[in-house]
Parts: sequence; structure tokens; C-alpha cells
Amino acid sequence: MNCSTGKTIYNTKFLAEMSLIDIHIHRNFPPDQGPQNVYECEFCGGWHLTSKSPNRNERLQEMIDSGELRLKQQARWWE
Ligand SMILES: [Zn+2]
Repeated sequence: MNCSTGKTIYNTKFLAEMSLIDIHIHRNFPPDQGPQNVYECEFCGGWHLTSKSPNRNERLQEMIDSGELRLKQQARWWE
């Protein structure tokens, strides 16, 4: 399946959110950089990540607030 946006398609919101968090961990983004949220696409019906969102994704925000994201980033650093 392809989308005219050229973005990676996730079949569910859950998968998109997992990927969103994973990207922040593995690429070590500062919280305000990189993709910030997920959205349902009007073209392909799947889910994409977006860096242009007025609101940060709830799960991602929780990971940042709890310090869990930072911990996972650090864990990754020492691998
Ligand atoms: Zn799409």
C-alpha cells in the first residue's frame, strides 16, 4: 500500500504511536523536535506521523513527563 503523501503508513493508531515513541528514542530527538503526533490520513485511510501538530501526542508527552523517554534514550546510548 502506498500513499500520495509519501509517508510511512501505519495500519493502526497504536502502531503509529509506538513508532513515534521509538523514533524519539532511537534518534534521540529533543522533545520539541521530530514527529510530534499521529494522524489518520484522508488519502490512504492509514496513520502517519506528523511534526506539524499543535498538540503533542499524549503517549509521547507521558513518556517525556515521566522521564521514561530520557531513560530509554540513555539506555540506547550505552548499547
Ligand atoms: Zn496516507
